[in-house]
Amino acid sequence: MKVLFYSSRDYDREFFQSSNQSYQHQLRFIEESLSLETVDRVQDENAISVFVNDVLDRETVFKLSAAGIKLVALRCAGYDNVDLQAAHEAGLRLVHVPAYSPNAVAEHSLALMLALNRKIPQARERLKKGDFSLDGLLGFDFAGRTLGIVGTGRIGSIVARIALAMGMKVLACDRYENPDCQKMGVVYVPLDRLYKEADVISLHCPLSPDTNHLINRDSIKKMKPGVMLINTSRGAVLDSCAVIEGLESGQIAYLGMDVYEYESKLFFRDLSCAVIDDDIFKTLASHPNVLMTAHQAFFTSDALKKIADTSLQSLSQFEQGQTLENEIPWSG
Ligand code: NAD
Repeated sequence: MKVLFYSSRDYDREFFQSSNQSYQHQLRFIEESLSLETVDRVQDENAISVFVNDVLDRETVFKLSAAGIKLVALRCAGYDNVDLQAAHEAGLRLVHVPAYSPNAVAEHSLALMLALNRKIPQARERLKKGDFSLDGLLGFDFAGRTLGIVGTGRIGSIVARIALAMGMKVLACDRYENPDCQKMGVVYVPLDRLYKEADVISLHCPLSPDTNHLINRDSIKKMKPGVMLINTSRGAVLDSCAVIEGLESGQIAYLGMDVYEYESKLFFRDLSCAVIDDDIFKTLASHPNVLMTAHQAFFTSDALKKIADTSLQSLSQFEQGQTLENEIPWSG
């Protein structure tokens, strides 16, 4: 199949070209992200590959369909950036990579927790300057503390397993209780109880109308003073302004974030020589109690290989008229 890759970077090219030796699709890579303005980059392709910040709103979806696109392959698990209703109406088929490496994201969530608590970035800066003092670097033991997980699917359940192995008590909230988590010792509780009892809250639910700004002024008020918040799900699950207020009042003592509400105009590019016109980002990034990474939780070699293999396999399934194993379900 002929496929146009939007928002592609050198690492996408490397992993896809290597996996494609077994598939022989025709791949064309461009750096630009998908928007209404860039649909005309489609030439004679009948499929496109997109990533988390490519926008597939109603107008773009219909324009893609008119340009001859039949299949959209998302190089990610979440699909909150797609107007599913419009895609259905336009007859566009959608595939994603539901589980490329839940371990990668779970491990990154733990990395944020550990680095925040033990102030590893600050310690490194001190060491480089020859400052070997410990004042201000005091941490706490995770063992014996309570972790609250919102969303115990593929990623959240791995975070639970690691936290339990570290001696933490794990509370969770999900619309469906995961029996594997229950067997491990995770206790499902209503969200308000999780807010009240958790020392650390880690978010692993998808972004949906239900979870948009789930963490807001009201929910922050219900949390334990001095709570640690970790978000590797999607930026808009947190209300960034409410979180800044929470940090300033001390209600939130630590914030680890790999995703940011307004990341689409910043992340996945080198803007080190540009003026960053985003005061919310600047406040968060410079706050001493915030540790932010630029949507890199998925970024392991294992995950990139799985993303490439799964996407190319979906393209072959489509080309051969087979059932699309990783089709995004349409529920109407
Ligand atoms: P999953 O579908 O396996 O699990 C999500 C869980 O959230 C499910 O159990 C679901 O029932 C639950 N959920 C849905 N709505 C909820 C609500 N309102 N309250 C509580 N729980 C709710 O998904 P996953 O593979 O574990 O991924 C979770 C999210 O992580 C993805 O949707 C994506 O947004 C994000 N993600 C981020 C990265 C990254 O690099 N930062 C990479 C992959 C995925």
